[in-house]
Amino acid sequence: MPELPEVQALADFLRTRTEGLVVTGVELGSFHVLKTFTPPPEALVGAPVDGVGRFGKFIDLDCGGTHLVFHLARAGWLRWSDAQSATRLRPGKSPIALRVRFDDGSGFDLTEAGTQKRLAAYLVGDPSQVPGIASLGPDPLADDFTEEAFAAILGAHRMQVKGLLRDQSIIAGVGNAYSDEILHVAKLSPFALAATLDDGQVTRLYTALRQTLAHAVATASGKPAKELKDAKRAGMRVHGRTGEVCPECGDVVREVSFADSSLQYCATCQTGGKPLADRRTSKFLK
Ligand SMILES: [Zn+2]
Repeated sequence: MPELPEVQALADFLRTRTEGLVVTGVELGSFHVLKTFTPPPEALVGAPVDGVGRFGKFIDLDCGGTHLVFHLARAGWLRWSDAQSATRLRPGKSPIALRVRFDDGSGFDLTEAGTQKRLAAYLVGDPSQVPGIASLGPDPLADDFTEEAFAAILGAHRMQVKGLLRDQSIIAGVGNAYSDEILHVAKLSPFALAATLDDGQVTRLYTALRQTLAHAVATASGKPAKELKDAKRAGMRVHGRTGEVCPECGDVVREVSFADSSLQYCATCQTGGKPLADRRTSKFLK
C-alpha cells in the first residue's frame, strides 16, 4: 500500500504532468470504485486541472473546482501514459478501476490487483466532503506538528504505538510499512503503550517519525509513478524483511502475524532482546 511518501510523490508527479491540461474523459472500469453519485464523471470533461494535492493517503485533483479524490488502498496503483489507450473503459472485470484522459492525449489509469476491491474515488465540491478526509488526524510533516503536539497525542491514547501510528484519525498518512520502520529507528517495541512512554522515548519516536518520513519523501520525490513501489521496498530496514539481518545490530528481523497483516521488528534493537509472542509461528514451530 502506498503511504505518505509515495502518495506525496504521486501527487507531485501528477501535478507536474497535468499542469495546463484539460480533462477530456473519465471512464469507470467498475461501478463500485466511485463512492459518490453527483456530480457524474462527465462533469469533469472540459475542466482544467487547477492543482493536485495530498490529504493523508488521498490524492486530490482539483479540476475547475470539482475535486476528483482517490485512495489507492492496499492493492491499488496509478499508471501514467503519455499516450493513453484509445480503448474506452467499460465496467466489467478489468483490473483498471478508473481511466482519466487529458487534451494532449495523455492520461492515467487507477488499477487494483487482487479480489478485495477497496480502491475508492470520489467526486466532490470540496475534499472535506470525503469521509476519510474529514476524519483525518494531523499530517506528521506539517510545520505545526511539533514534539509537544505529538506528546499530547501519545499521552491521550492508552493503545499500542504500532496501532496509534497507523490510525488515520490520529495521525494521517502512516501505514503498516513506515510504522515498522519508525519504531525500529526509535528503538521501541510495537506493543509499547503510547500513554506510558517517558520523555526520552517520546523524543526518539517524534524524531524517528519526522526523519523517516522526510527521508522517504526525499527519496521518492521526482521518481515516475512506476518506480515508486520498488523504491519503497528497497528503502525498508525491517519491514517485509523477516529472516534478514537487522542493519543496526546484525540480529535477525522477526515477525508477528495477524489475521490480515504482519509486522516486522528487531528484538535486540526494540524489545530488549526478547522476541514478541506470535501465536501463529509458535503454533507451527512447536
Ligand atoms: Zn537490530
